[in-house]
Amino acid sequence: MLRATDLAHLIVRSRLAPSAIAVDATVGNGHDTAFLADIVGASGHVYGFDVQAEALAVATERVRGLAQVSLLHAGHETMAAKIPAFALQRLSAVMFNLGYLPGAAKSVVTRTETTLAALQQALDHLAVGGVVTVITYPGHAEGADEAVAVAQYSAMLPADFAASTFKRVNSAGAAPALTVVERVK
Ligand code: SAH
Repeated sequence: MLRATDLAHLIVRSRLAPSAIAVDATVGNGHDTAFLADIVGASGHVYGFDVQAEALAVATERVRGLAQVSLLHAGHETMAAKIPAFALQRLSAVMFNLGYLPGAAKSVVTRTETTLAALQQALDHLAVGGVVTVITYPGHAEGADEAVAVAQYSAMLPADFAASTFKRVNSAGAAPALTVVERVK
């Protein structure tokens, strides 16, 4: 079965090259961070954000020895302030996997207001040809609001961007949705 996370990886892989700058906006256990670090290589850089120290501890182990990764214990809504200017100028890929971390405290969940603030910052700094992926989880209350907000926000973007949504349409429950925003000019 094609999952939203697999599709996000396929799309990012098609755009991201060695030496590029990427952001994992929701590090969690670090799977996307490791994925991005592998593509950009030692001459690129990945900035990862998470507010949960426990998650960052797991992620730190996963990317141990990779000098091209900086993990920041900070909300993604601070990315424009935290990423050094030279890197912020040329962001090629930013990945968001929203919701809560499976197996961790469900109280630590991404929130619509900070998600939209982070998404805005990512798009403000996205290079032409770059891509932002956002996976939303409408299966829980906060996630449902967040999914609607991300969809509405993306639909209103100006013509410098191309926004698309992918979602399983015959799912029994509320399926996760992948929103992809490309900077086209
Ligand atoms: N729902 C996904 C996992 C999401 S993990 C799945 O099923 O696999 C989401 C991560 O975002 C968590 O690790 C959580 O700590 C983190 N998070 C929550 N608020 C955040 C914020 N403001 N900035 C960065 N990360 C945040």
